[in-house]
Amino acid sequence: GVESPNNYEVRLGASFEHIVSMSKPNTHQHTIRMGGMMMGVDVKTTSVPICKITNCIFVNKLETKPSTQECIRCGQCNQACPVDLLPQQLYWYAKSEDTDKAMDYNLADCIECRCCDYVCPSHIPLAEYFSFAKALHRKTTEDQYRTDIARERFEFREYRLERNKQERTEMMAAKKEELKKKMANDKVQKDKIAAAMARVKKTKKANDDA
Ligand code: SF4
Ligand code: SF4
Repeated sequence: GVESPNNYEVRLGASFEHIVSMSKPNTHQHTIRMGGMMMGVDVKTTSVPICKITNCIFVNKLETKPSTQECIRCGQCNQACPVDLLPQQLYWYAKSEDTDKAMDYNLADCIECRCCDYVCPSHIPLAEYFSFAKALHRKTTEDQYRTDIARERFEFREYRLERNKQERTEMMAAKKEELKKKMANDKVQKDKIAAAMARVKKTKKANDDA
């Protein structure tokens, strides 16, 4: 606890340590929690600034936390959950990083209230597992999305290159065909001219002989 609990209006960026010292903690052996006793987070060091999400700071007597034990499947967490989830089940999937399965069990609905932590006789930090599993799922989904986009782009590029190649081949074949026809026409024309010249020469020779 502190000697003078108070409300302070401070600037963003103010020192955490300074704010805590203003309330005069009873002992140097204390822990700091930010955001609420149930849903808040432990602050490991006071060398951090006050930020937008700092709404309340708790100074608690240092107590040794009981060590975490294995889940004994007592089901107390199931009864405590305010949104009717199955924390015990979610815990197994979160622990094994099977986030898809955890999502099937509505992990996204977990409000991280820590009610399940509070009642767990094995002192398992369930909400921390759920928070981690949600972040992991988000990252996996984003990675998957980015991979899909990259694959689609690559496939479209391959398709576009193949299509351009095909179009170029067809265009070259058409040009070749056109050139062939033109050359054939030129030959016919040349033959006609040669025949006409031969006729003129023949007529001229006949006139000269007469
Ligand atoms: S309360 Fe703890 S020990 Fe009991 S089922 Fe839930 S996680 Fe397991
Ligand atoms: S932390 Fe999540 S799973 Fe645990 S009681 Fe709260 S809502 Fe239910």
